[in-house]
Amino acid sequence: MEIIKNVKGTHDIYGEENNAYEMVENLMKSVAELYAYHGVRPPVLESNSVFVRGVGSSSDIVRKEMYTFKDHGDRDITLRPEFTAGIMRMVVQNKLYATNELPLKLYYLGPVFRYERPQLGRYRQFNQFGVECIGHASYMQDVDVIAMAYTILTSLGLDGVTIKINTLGDDESRNNYREALKSYFAKHIRNMCEDCKTRFELNPLRILDCKVPEDRPYIDNAPVINDYLSESSKERFSKVLNALETLQIPYEIDSSLVRGLDYYSETVFEFHYKSKKGIDYGAVGAGGHYGKLMSELGGPDYPGVGFSFGIERVVSVLKDDELLENIKDELDAYVMPLGEESNLYAEEIAVFLRNSGGYRVDVCADNCKMGAMFKRASTKGAKYALIVGETEVNEQTVVIKDLQTQEQNKVKVEELVTKFDELFNSSKEEE
Ligand code: ATP
Ligand code: MG
Repeated sequence: MEIIKNVKGTHDIYGEENNAYEMVENLMKSVAELYAYHGVRPPVLESNSVFVRGVGSSSDIVRKEMYTFKDHGDRDITLRPEFTAGIMRMVVQNKLYATNELPLKLYYLGPVFRYERPQLGRYRQFNQFGVECIGHASYMQDVDVIAMAYTILTSLGLDGVTIKINTLGDDESRNNYREALKSYFAKHIRNMCEDCKTRFELNPLRILDCKVPEDRPYIDNAPVINDYLSESSKERFSKVLNALETLQIPYEIDSSLVRGLDYYSETVFEFHYKSKKGIDYGAVGAGGHYGKLMSELGGPDYPGVGFSFGIERVVSVLKDDELLENIKDELDAYVMPLGEESNLYAEEIAVFLRNSGGYRVDVCADNCKMGAMFKRASTKGAKYALIVGETEVNEQTVVIKDLQTQEQNKVKVEELVTKFDELFNSSKEEE
C-alpha cells in the first residue's frame, strides 16, 4: 500500500533534532523567566477577525497566508499565523490588563501556520517563541525586550548577531511618510511586482518589505522615514539607541525596515545571523512596539512591545555552526536483568534511581543476552551498567559497572543513590 506523506510545508521533528528543539526552547523559556515573564497558552484556533483586525488587512499574512475555514457551526476560524493578536484578544477578553502589576510580561511557545511557498527557512507550520510586554509606553520596555532577545541568542552561542533597528514613528510621522511614499512610488509602480501594486493601493509602507530583487533599486531610492519623524518620535528613538549603547548591545539602523504586520509603531527590529556556511535563512526573530493593537480588539488603548523567534531558523543556524554538538543525550545508567526472575527488581531499581536520585535511567525489558545488553548500553551512551541477577535479588544488592574503566562494585540497594551521587560528583570534579 502507498505510504501517506506529511502535508507540504510541514516537517517531522525527531531524534537529535528534537533534542535541539528542546534545548533551544528550554533556554528561551528560562531567559524569559529571568526577565520576570510568565507563560501563556492562547488557543491555536481563533476567530478570523482576531487577525484581520489585529494583524491588519494590508499585511501579507492576512492577505494571502492564513489558513481560514468554516467550521461545522459556520464560524470563520483561522489557525493562528502568529501569537501577538491572539494574546491581545486573551488580555482584553479576560481583562488581564486590570491589574496594578502593569506592564504584563507574557511569553509563549508553539506552532503557527502560514500558507507560504515552502523553501529554505520557510515552512507552512513552524514554531515560534516570543514575548509581549503590555501596558507601558516607555522606550525602556523596548530596550528591555531587545536586551532579552539578545541575551537568548548569545546564550545559545551565537556570536555576531546583527540587530537591525528602525523607527516607524507615531501616527502623524507615519501618515506623512505614507504620503511621501505614495507620490514617490506612483512614478515607479508600473515597473514593480504585482504584489507591490496591491501594496501601493492598500498601504505603500508595505512595499519596503518586498523581497523581489528587481524591485530593490526602487525601494533603495525611496524616501526614508527619518525625514518625516515628529520631534517626539525622533527623541524616543534616540533614547532607545543610547540605551542599547550603554548596555553594549550592537545594532545597525536600517531605514527600510518596516516589518510585515500593520500594528507596529515607533521602534521595530529584526535579528539576523549569518551562519559560518553563509546560508541565509532570513531573520531568526523580529519584533517591535505597537500602539493601537489592544484598542483594535476592543480593549483600552494600552501600548506594548514584543518579539518572536522562529525556532526552525534558530535551530538551523545552530546546526550549521556546530553549536548543537554539546547537547548530551546520554544515559546515566542502563539496568540489565539477567533473567525473568530479576525483571521486576530491575524495574524497581530504575524507578528508584530516577525518582529518588534524579538520574536518567533506562532498563532492558526483553531479557536479551548479556553481550547484546552491553551493546545497547553503549549505543545509548550509558555511563554505568547496573547488573542484577538472582543473587542480587536475594541479597538486595546491585552490581555497578563503569562502562569506561570496566571497574565493578557491588552496593546495597539502599546505598545506591548515595553511591551514584559520589560517582557523579567525583566525575564532575575531574572535568
Ligand atoms: P519573513 O520576512 O522572513 O517572512 P516575517 O516578518 O513574516 O518573516 P514574523 O511574522 O516577524 O516574520 O515572525 C517572526 C519570526 O518567525 C521570523 O523572524 C522568522 O524567524 C520566523 N518565521 C516567519 N515566517 C516563517 C516561516 N514561514 N517558516 C519558518 N519561520 C518563519
Ligand atoms: Mg513573512
